[in-house]
Amino acid sequence: MKKQNQINKQFLNSFCNYNKLNNIILSFDIDWAPEFMIEDLLNLTSKLNPTFFNTHKSKILQNLNEKNITQGIHPNLQNNSSHGHTINNIYKTVKNFGNKKYLRFHVLGHSYPDLKFFAKRGTEIDSSIILINQPYITPNYHPDIDLVKVPYVWEDGMILNFKFNIKNSLNLNLPGLKILDFHPLDLYLNTPSIEKRNNFKKKFKSVLFSTKKESEKYINKKKYGIRDFFIETISYLKRKRINFSNFKELNYEFRENKK
Ligand SMILES: [Zn+2]
Repeated sequence: MKKQNQINKQFLNSFCNYNKLNNIILSFDIDWAPEFMIEDLLNLTSKLNPTFFNTHKSKILQNLNEKNITQGIHPNLQNNSSHGHTINNIYKTVKNFGNKKYLRFHVLGHSYPDLKFFAKRGTEIDSSIILINQPYITPNYHPDIDLVKVPYVWEDGMILNFKFNIKNSLNLNLPGLKILDFHPLDLYLNTPSIEKRNNFKKKFKSVLFSTKKESEKYINKKKYGIRDFFIETISYLKRKRINFSNFKELNYEFRENKK
């Protein structure tokens, strides 16, 4: 019998920070951000090798070269989904928004059969589990559906929900895969609390319909928020010369090294 999930040392050190911190993976759930927020996100993430999980058709995202930015899909399987009412319809909608190889479900809502459904249609790596600041995370391979599963360790929305002190919310000193997840909305607004995020969302039928003029009024300039955290964290990582890798590289390297 083939031994499962034996990962060689080189991969553990280079991607999973087992020796010391040297690799970060930045992911972004687009969550119906309008074009002006996506533009802002692109300015913030240039040269950071980001991975986007797309929820809708965006002219700006469509025109990007896949070489610059890895773009996966972010299907919403919930009852009120704008993607469709059956998994078949949802799949048909979202497969046009990004590369189906890379997947994260909106609000992480999914079952194992849902993973199987997407894996059968070309998904190779899924990141729909959050384990806040969990050490020693490595990718996990499911041979029955030929899928790599990678939990992530930090998310802006979850930190806001937890009411953690944003500034100290991420532990970078523990070994393990470090996938972080941000939303363009919270970066744009510099969201300082879950209440501020909800207030903004209540204003519009969908974030997608929010205008730049209206949104600017909600930008937080008083308290330490998600954008402050992002900028501070990135400058720390750059100073430390940490490598930024994307889901394409993670998927490829893990499959190569899983021997
Ligand atoms: Zn989402």
